[in-house]
Amino acid sequence: MHNFLPITYFEHKFIPFKDANISIATHALHYGTGAFGGMRGIPNPDNPEQILLFRLDRHAQRLSNSAKFLHYDLPADKIQQIIIDFVKQNKPDKSFYIRPFVYTSDLGIAPRLHKIEKNFFIYGLELGDYLPPDGISCRVSSWYRQEDRSLPLRGKISGAYITSSLAKTEAVESGFDEAILMNSQGKVCEASGMNIFIVRNGKIITPGFDQDILEGITRESVITIAQDLGIEVIERSVDKTELFIADEVFLSGTAAKITPVKRVETYQLSSNRPITNKLKSKLTAITANQDKSHQDWVYKIDL
Ligand code: PMP
Repeated sequence: MHNFLPITYFEHKFIPFKDANISIATHALHYGTGAFGGMRGIPNPDNPEQILLFRLDRHAQRLSNSAKFLHYDLPADKIQQIIIDFVKQNKPDKSFYIRPFVYTSDLGIAPRLHKIEKNFFIYGLELGDYLPPDGISCRVSSWYRQEDRSLPLRGKISGAYITSSLAKTEAVESGFDEAILMNSQGKVCEASGMNIFIVRNGKIITPGFDQDILEGITRESVITIAQDLGIEVIERSVDKTELFIADEVFLSGTAAKITPVKRVETYQLSSNRPITNKLKSKLTAITANQDKSHQDWVYKIDL
């Protein structure tokens, strides 16, 4: 059971989480016509009266873009302000995750996005580690990531997560921690809710935007941090077999942060992960405001 933050933003008001309920006839529930965001916040380790939100502006922009795909005009600055107010209302004292959601809130049938009521809510929950931080095993999924020509993959469209769900369950039910999905071209794409990186010969390689990946905000941050550290980052298509011989493989995501991969299918990877470790400690320090190299990535909210 999750510990939800007590206050929710629902139908333009802040109300108790338990009172924020929707009808079984809600359009988005049936057609997957919602889109969500996911961001993390922590109390400032040096000042519990201050909350640190990682890359608020980038998350607000991505949600606004996702809303656009749903024919819903929700400006990023408006999302940003409501998230700030949401945090002030809740005053979280532990590491937490914010889940904003835009959706077709109309009651009625027929899939469409035009001439239909939309709405926006935000709730939050306490969230520690999403995956074991010391490393996980991954299965190469028999499910393939969708293509951008079928679905706007640059947004976090809720209906798209059926594929992630199928892949994750297949992986877990066959004894793995996580799934790695290929794209329709048979190239490595991403995990069920994380982007993927491999390290070969001291260089970082990750599938590019032309590979049907989600435009991950952690991914973007990892690339910048790696470049700061003088590590070359190559964005290109990645073959499945490169996963088996990589020096290091790791996943990146808001919930998963940087999670090392210990094994892919039956291929055991080295437990010596110098680049993953360097990136992970730098990212952890930046999110906790302990490393001043990217201060603008950490939005501070005084409670
Ligand atoms: N891919 C998918 C499918 C995801 O759901 C997520 C989580 N939002 C990611 C990648 C990682 O994105 P981010 O770093 O922005 O959380």
